[in-house]
Amino acid sequence: MIIKGLQIGLALLAYRNLLNSKNRSLAAENKTIHMSLVVVGSMAFDAIETPFGKSDKIIGGAATYIAWCASNFTTVKQISVVGGDFPQSELDALANRGVILEGVQIKKDEKTFFWSGKYHLDMNTRDTIETQLNVLENFEPVVPDSYQDCEILMLGNLVPGVQSSVIKQMKKRPKLIVMDTMNFWMEIMMDDLLHTISLVDVLMVNDSEVRQLSGEYSLVKAAKKIMAMGPKYLIIKKGEHGALLFHENEVFFAPALPLEEVFDPTGAGDTFAGGFVAHLAKTKDFSFNNMKSAIILGSALASFCVEKFGTQRLTEINESDIKTRVQSFVQLVNFDIELV
Ligand code: AMP
Repeated sequence: MIIKGLQIGLALLAYRNLLNSKNRSLAAENKTIHMSLVVVGSMAFDAIETPFGKSDKIIGGAATYIAWCASNFTTVKQISVVGGDFPQSELDALANRGVILEGVQIKKDEKTFFWSGKYHLDMNTRDTIETQLNVLENFEPVVPDSYQDCEILMLGNLVPGVQSSVIKQMKKRPKLIVMDTMNFWMEIMMDDLLHTISLVDVLMVNDSEVRQLSGEYSLVKAAKKIMAMGPKYLIIKKGEHGALLFHENEVFFAPALPLEEVFDPTGAGDTFAGGFVAHLAKTKDFSFNNMKSAIILGSALASFCVEKFGTQRLTEINESDIKTRVQSFVQLVNFDIELV
């Protein structure tokens, strides 16, 4: 009996075929036929320390990473806030990729959100050294009229009350609401966070946050508890150990590509989210099978993000790099096995 590889091999092949069937450049493609994607999240300055180096204040933020990634595939309508100290050149760079910034407020007399973190040797764990909310403290997002066609809403990491305010401002509920969050909000705003979680379709968090949120060590038990809180889908990010997708009684696992050098994992989760939602916006298909492909694309993009500090690597890659990387995923997990 021949068992053809893993489910993942099929998801990867499906994704590779999809890429190959498009011989047009991604940039030139008519993105208006995709589902309309709105992204909310922090835009930030980060200071990062890893065992391999230390950065000064560099550009970061959940929505920044999501936009850099998703704009490889589709149009992004961004909602965020920055201070007068945020470089105009960074906003221009996103605008040049087709990211719509009408929903990004610039508070001239205030400071941009600042986060600093330090990674340990295994790079899977990090400590937050400092979080300065600055402009995020009193941020009241305003959803522009031109964003009201939103079909997929990506709530990147941000104050939970701000995330839910964006949902509330949508005159028509988006077809899919995806949410990312982190332990910081679990520690200081658990009630608000649980309320926002109850409103979304897909929640993505890392394994330690899943345990913190559910109080369960077993990820399977934790997933059941969290899906009972509202989300129909749960994605558990496990850093260099890949990601799990849960839905009802189904589960799918995607690995992370083993890389020779991991320089800075910051933003990998957001980049993963950007690839995930962009694939769904482009294919307009929310089936579990298509979500598997979306996870593979997210993982492939996240593998670029970690290769350099901050958003640097995401600014360099092109369509051909992405295709080659997806192909590496195919090689990684595709196998035949013959039971004797
Ligand atoms: P990730 O490594 O994918 O979890 O995301 C890292 C990014 O999240 C950094 O660029 C930070 O600026 C941003 N970030 C860190 N803490 C927060 C927070 N409490 N709220 C919003 N964004 C944050």
